[in-house]
Amino acid sequence: MNYMKIIPCDIANGEGVRVTIFVSGCNHHCPGCQNPTTWDAAAGNPFVEDTMQELLDLLRPDYIRGLTFSGGDPLFIQNRLIVGYICERVRKEFGYTKDIWTWTGYEWDQIKDWDHLHYIDMLVDGPYVEAERDISLPWAGSRNQRVIDVKKSLEKGEVVLWQK
Ligand code: SF4
Repeated sequence: MNYMKIIPCDIANGEGVRVTIFVSGCNHHCPGCQNPTTWDAAAGNPFVEDTMQELLDLLRPDYIRGLTFSGGDPLFIQNRLIVGYICERVRKEFGYTKDIWTWTGYEWDQIKDWDHLHYIDMLVDGPYVEAERDISLPWAGSRNQRVIDVKKSLEKGEVVLWQK
């Protein structure tokens, strides 16, 4: 997996102060996408063990609430193995004292069987749809996208929206 950048102290991609990684690779190609340079899976830099260590070190301070995956599509097929590995390492290091958010262009039904989904706390699903654009939404860009409480959804077997 390649990634474009890491923001060490981010307040725009999830609750609280977060570490955000923008991964490369997306095959949704939504018209109006704000990050088309991330579509190419070969763009950016390879995610290597040093990058993993960098992420863990950035997550360590108490004021960092958690990790966010953005992109690109973190759940682009070629990214899932490494994104799952990162989630495992974060849980191993910090347990559930840090939360994990991710965006994806897939809808819930398309990714609900991914075997690492249980590591994620919150997931914003679905492609960006220009006709549904709404800048008043806190985490989504268009009204079709849902902010999903992953644990509750997996427990219930249906989408449960995240409640503040
Ligand atoms: S899923 Fe996200 S990154 Fe991919 S094309 Fe759509 S808006 Fe852009």
